[in-house]
Amino acid sequence: MTNRQNVVITGGASGIGAAAARCFAGAGYAVAIGYHPADPHDPALVLEDIHGEGGVAAAFPVDVRDTGQVAAFLADAAAQWGRVDHVIANAGILRRAALGDLTDDAWNEVIDIDLTGVMRTVRAALPYFPEAGGSVVAVSSIVGANYGWAEHAHYAAAKAGVLGLVQSLAQELGPRGIRVNAVVPGTIESPQSLDATHSLGQAGIDQQAALLPLAPRTGTVEDVAAAIGFLASDAAGFITGTSLLVDGGLGTVSPR
Ligand code: NAD
Repeated sequence: MTNRQNVVITGGASGIGAAAARCFAGAGYAVAIGYHPADPHDPALVLEDIHGEGGVAAAFPVDVRDTGQVAAFLADAAAQWGRVDHVIANAGILRRAALGDLTDDAWNEVIDIDLTGVMRTVRAALPYFPEAGGSVVAVSSIVGANYGWAEHAHYAAAKAGVLGLVQSLAQELGPRGIRVNAVVPGTIESPQSLDATHSLGQAGIDQQAALLPLAPRTGTVEDVAAAIGFLASDAAGFITGTSLLVDGGLGTVSPR
């Protein structure tokens, strides 16, 4: 077994997850990239970048809706590197549906991936954390954590749920030395937010960027990856059960 720390990331082939994979690899971690084969994101591109820089990474297919697949992902990553030091529960989907159109199936799909998927991922990692230490960073959202969003009630409920999950798991896993935190991204340019059907699209992203104290800066996936990297690192050794807002100051803006 090596002393190199390793990290497991769900949704690691695109957006925030891919940026986190590159960030961790650049900082010397071995990275297990979980990718969802049904999605159009190619983990080979992320692996190529990381390996090109001399980093250590491998990709594993996983659908976080499937308990068996999540267990296999964590077991495979642990088999590769001997243990799992850090878990980044990042996989998520965003769907637009007005309440009248929000079928049980539509509700359950978002909750299953965005909330239950986080629980499944952390649960599957339990046998593989080091004897003392380790960390979890879950990806919540300003939607649910700080705001509501019409036609996105299921997403908001899931992302709010992630915060409750994080607080409870921080208590439960603290005695094992495992820290559990969340990042709360604001609007970040990524495949999810660029989807104009379910999210803001480019025009909506630009409109919101103009409101920020840091205007006209748009949030990048690297901004969130850096916050995830901090929460997982030893520098955050006394931080658990909390969340880190990465929103460019959106929350400070009063309605005009
Ligand atoms: P993204 O769509 O690029 O990333 C989502 C990732 O989740 C993709 O890689 C996708 O393949 C994966 N995924 C989806 N369903 C899955 C499943 N069933 N099993 C395994 N993986 C699955 O967009 P992103 O913005 O990078 O999103 C990453 C996380 O950040 C999500 O949880 C999202 O809700 C959250 N978030 C994003 C923003 C934003 O503005 N982009 C804001 C707040 C929170």
